[in-house]
This record gives sequence, C-alpha cells and structure tokens, in this order.
Amino acid sequence: MKTRVAIMGYGNLGRGVELALRNSPDMEFVAVFSRRDPAKVSIKTTDVPVISVNDIDAYQDKVDVLIICGGSATDLPKQTPQYVKKFNVVDSFDTHACIPDHFAAVDAAGKETNHVGVISVGWDPGLFSLARVYSHAVLPVGKDYTFWGKGVSQGHSDAVRRIPGVKDAKQYTIPVKTALDAVRAGKNPELTTREKHTREVFAVLEEGADAEAVTKAIVTMPNYFSDYDTTVHFISEEEMKRDHSGLAHGGFVIRSGKTGTDGEHNHIFELALTLDSNPEFTGSVLVAYARAAHRIAREGGTGCRTALDIAPAYLCPESGEELRAHLL
Ligand code: NDP
Repeated sequence: MKTRVAIMGYGNLGRGVELALRNSPDMEFVAVFSRRDPAKVSIKTTDVPVISVNDIDAYQDKVDVLIICGGSATDLPKQTPQYVKKFNVVDSFDTHACIPDHFAAVDAAGKETNHVGVISVGWDPGLFSLARVYSHAVLPVGKDYTFWGKGVSQGHSDAVRRIPGVKDAKQYTIPVKTALDAVRAGKNPELTTREKHTREVFAVLEEGADAEAVTKAIVTMPNYFSDYDTTVHFISEEEMKRDHSGLAHGGFVIRSGKTGTDGEHNHIFELALTLDSNPEFTGSVLVAYARAAHRIAREGGTGCRTALDIAPAYLCPESGEELRAHLL
C-alpha cells in the first residue's frame, strides 16, 4: 500500500518535495495545496492538481501525510498546528529557539484529533540534530559546534522578504574560518554566536522604500540577525537574478570530546553536508519523514515527534530484515 502524500505551499521547498517524491516509488503524489489562486501556480509535473487550501477538507480521506512547506517565520507556527487537526503532517520548522512552543502546539492538536505531526525535520534542525545527540551521548565530556555555510539560508531569506519594503532577498551564512580551524584542531574554544558566523544580505527594495529603516529591521531582528554581524547590500532585480539565483548550502556539526584517565585523548565527531540544492535535499528529508509519519500513524501513534523521537529504520521503505542485512 502506497503512502498518499500532498504538498501544502509551493515555493522552493514545495518544489524540492515534489522532485523527491519522484524518487520514492512507495509514495503516491496526490495534490498540491496553495493559498494562491491555483490557476496561477504552475507545477513541474502536470498530472497532479493544484487545489485551493479552502477546498482541503475534501481531501481528508485521500491523503495519508500532508507535507507543509510554508516559511518558518510566519506560516508554519500557524499552519502546522492548524492542519494537524485534519491530517498527519510533516514540517521543516527551523526557528530553533521556538521549537519547544511549536512542539507543544502541534502535540496538543494532534493528540486531540488522533493525528501525527512530525516537526523540524530537514538538515538543521533534522539530520544535524541527530548528529548532535549521537555525539553528545557517546562523548559526554566535550563541546558541540555547529557551523553553517557558506550558503543561502532559506529561512533567513524568507524572514527578510517579509519585511515591508523588501521585494526580494537572499541571505548568506558564512562560517568564520579561524573558528572552524580551532575546533577541528581539538582546541575546544569558547565561541560566541557572533564569533562563529557572519551574515550577508542582498536585498531588492520596493520603489520608495526606506533603505535605512529596512537595514535596521534586518540587523535587529530577534532570533534571526540580532546576535550576528550582518552586512546588508541593496541591489537591482537584474543583479539578484544574475548573481544570486543558486540555493547551495551545507555545514558541519562537530563534537570535540575527551576520554582517558585525565582527558588526554581528544575525539572529533563530525557530520559534514555539502548540498548543491538546499530545498531539494531538505525536500528529500521531508519525504523520508513522511514515510515515518505514516508508519507511526498506522501503529496508532498520535501527537508531535521530532527527528530525535523517530527510529532511523522508520525512514526507509525497506524492511528491518533488509536493513539489518545491508545497512547495519
Ligand atoms: P518560499 O518563500 O519559497 O515559500 C514559502 C511559501 O510562500 C510557500 O509555501 C508558498 O505558499 C508561498 N509562495 C511561494 N512562492 C510564492 C510566490 N511566487 N508568490 C506568493 N507566494 C509564494 O520558502 P522556501 O520554500 O524557500 O522555504 C520554506 C521554509 O523551509 C523556510 O522558511 C525554512 O524555514 C524551511 N527550511 C528548513 C530547513 C531545515 O533544515 N529544517 C532547510 C531549508 C528550509 P502558497 O503556495 O500557499 O502560496
């Protein structure tokens, strides 16, 4: 029996999920739901309908898992608790500081209506969270470091695009090389948020927008920019298209841990990701967790889960027997 999947919200990530579904023969792609006029949303595959979110209720018996691809800044805090009342859902909510609140809201709504909500899966949060937890468990004496980039952060770009006066924006996260080198050398440095990364924003303004006010709104934005040194550049639409259309990203999760009678042995546990397309990779992670969400629901589970709560075997279409024979 295939898992019937629908996508809610058709931006970069929605398109990434669509492409990932093509590599998953155990999934059936049922529909795309959008807040926009469906006639104005053109999708890559022609045989899947685009439906207005206003008509979503008719799909409750036709969809096993709804993959919600809205932005973390304002869409997901509303959409995921709302739609887990009607469907099993998966999202990629990436505002780390707000994950406990988001979890509580999705958990309550899912338990009330007997649905599963898998939140905050992607690469960070998501696969990087798993690396942090595994390395923390096996190296209890040590330090964690996460570096992102250089790459485009969709969440931060999305947050800038929502500032009044901004027509388009791209945000690059850049690791500070000296900090990264010190960590890999096992020096276990104390690093502030500001010492680990810088942020660079390229934005196109609406006509008549106040550049100074937009800059202030960006660099002071809590959770997103206020703890970083951020450089803001205003550019033309042509420059944006010519120089900033790629969506590559990546990063490193490193735990530097000590063992031995006097902590004399240092171990570096590192997960590195180099991604040609952030949304296509993140979309692939969301599809794997949609498989898990459906399985948890079939087993009678309800409420919220994160990557930390789901056994790895649930992500694969293969049986436990096959996994033990080939991937263990
Ligand atoms: P987009 O801005 O491309 O899309 C967000 C939403 O905006 C869509 O769901 C869509 O909803 C709407 N939209 C898209 N295009 C248009 C348009 N042309 N006009 C009007 N509305 C539009 O964001 P991304 O897909 O790039 O990113 C979504 C989120 O994914 C990010 O906010 C980030 O938090 C998260 N993410 C998480 C990662 C992780 O590792 N956990 C990694 C990467 C991303 P609708 O169709 O309903 O209009």
